Amino acid sequence: MKAAVLKERFPDERRVALLPDNVKKLQAAGYEILIERGAGLGSSITDEDYSAAGAQLIDRAEATAADILLQVRSAGANTANGDDDVQLMHAGQIVIGMCDPLGNAAAIGMLAEQGVSQVALEMVPRISRAQSMDVLSSMATIAGYRAVLHSAFELPRMFPLNMTAAGTLKAAKVFIIGAGVAGLQAAATAKRLGAVVSAYDVRPDCREQVESIGARFVEVQLESDDAEDEGGYAKQQSEEFLVKQRELMAELAAESDVVITTAAIPGRQSPLLISADAVATMKPGSVIVDLAAERGGNCELTQADETVVVHNVTILGPTNLPSEIPNHASQMFGNNITKFLLHLVNDEGEVRLDLEDEIIQGCLVSHAGQVINERIASMLGVEIEEAKQSEDVMDTDNYSEDVDDELDADLELDDDAAADIDSEDAMDTDNYSEDVDDDLDADLELDDEENQ
Ligand code: NAD
Repeated sequence: MKAAVLKERFPDERRVALLPDNVKKLQAAGYEILIERGAGLGSSITDEDYSAAGAQLIDRAEATAADILLQVRSAGANTANGDDDVQLMHAGQIVIGMCDPLGNAAAIGMLAEQGVSQVALEMVPRISRAQSMDVLSSMATIAGYRAVLHSAFELPRMFPLNMTAAGTLKAAKVFIIGAGVAGLQAAATAKRLGAVVSAYDVRPDCREQVESIGARFVEVQLESDDAEDEGGYAKQQSEEFLVKQRELMAELAAESDVVITTAAIPGRQSPLLISADAVATMKPGSVIVDLAAERGGNCELTQADETVVVHNVTILGPTNLPSEIPNHASQMFGNNITKFLLHLVNDEGEVRLDLEDEIIQGCLVSHAGQVINERIASMLGVEIEEAKQSEDVMDTDNYSEDVDDELDADLELDDDAAADIDSEDAMDTDNYSEDVDDDLDADLELDDEENQ
């Protein structure tokens, strides 16, 4: 089974879908890994690094002919030239990457016509056994961290409190709106830089997580009985709620030096939380970093991928922060996609898109010539016919049953190493409830038992 990593073509995209360490694990599981020449350079990984790990370096034409294509941005997530890639794909091929299925459903329609089985990594369900495949959390972690660095760079003041002979410099006040994965990472990063951090989220469950990293959870007297869906995501709120919310956010923004907004509703326009009037009341020199810029932004004045200065407030709307820390972003993405690829290999060593599996059901968006995700099909106005399971089995040649055990052992080692190095920080940036961690531990134990 040949799986090829394509060099990313989206402008300024520096990430790569696999790292050399991933290559070794996947080859041991029976995959033959091909890498398009130069694919890793943006992430500081040379062709020689991949060769040393056992991968074969090839050109794009050969890469696009592989059984499985691995991309960071496939199809709809590459609005610059993703359509060209789709033309090179063939029926029966499996493509795995982020493809913005809810933002660009038309691209999924094209993939379906081409007969491609597209895995939209953004749609891997957020269940505990799929946590290690969750690219959204991985990339949000990087984006939250980077957003704080951008804000610190733009702010005409320092973050930490400083008592000097030349007087006392007050700590910066950082206000985070949306305390999901990116927001919590931003809060933890700002805290480490010495800022006074507060955070707000429409989901009340976030309070504990915000407080666990030493930030203040902002109490907002707004009733929302129905803030969260069954997947743990925020639900779209009524316009009446959002109007009240904007008034309260304006008061809080006016007291802050930095506002980082991360509020998102999957597949929808981002809620407008900071109006132009609210920006006008902010302190001169203050900074807004709007991580929701790609879907319209949480601030009315945000312009995607631009830095604008309005009313003496600097507003940044970056849409691809993970690509600014490409090596670590690729490491996380590569580990996520590796876990996914290993999940596809069954006990007989076959690569199988098991249509009964909850993880595959969640993220396989086109298959056997049709769009098979209900939400995307309804966006495109097409019907879904029942897909045939039998077409989905492919054999990997050299699968060793020991591989899953080895990978789990490696992950345990990684976890132990991380715990040894920085156990306090690990607690700080842990975005999940302890219950979820317990569930994950239990799942890993179950996996281990199954693998023995
Ligand atoms: P996201 O990127 O979709 O949204 C970011 C945050 O914005 C969310 O916390 C959301 O509640 C918030 N938000 C939306 N509308 C808002 C509004 N009007 N006002 C204020 N805040 C608003 O979310 P995400 O960070 O990807 O994930 C959300 C949550 O899902 C996580 O915090 C976590 O609890 C859960 N999660 C679970 C798993 C898992 O179990 N495997 C994995 C990842 C995340």
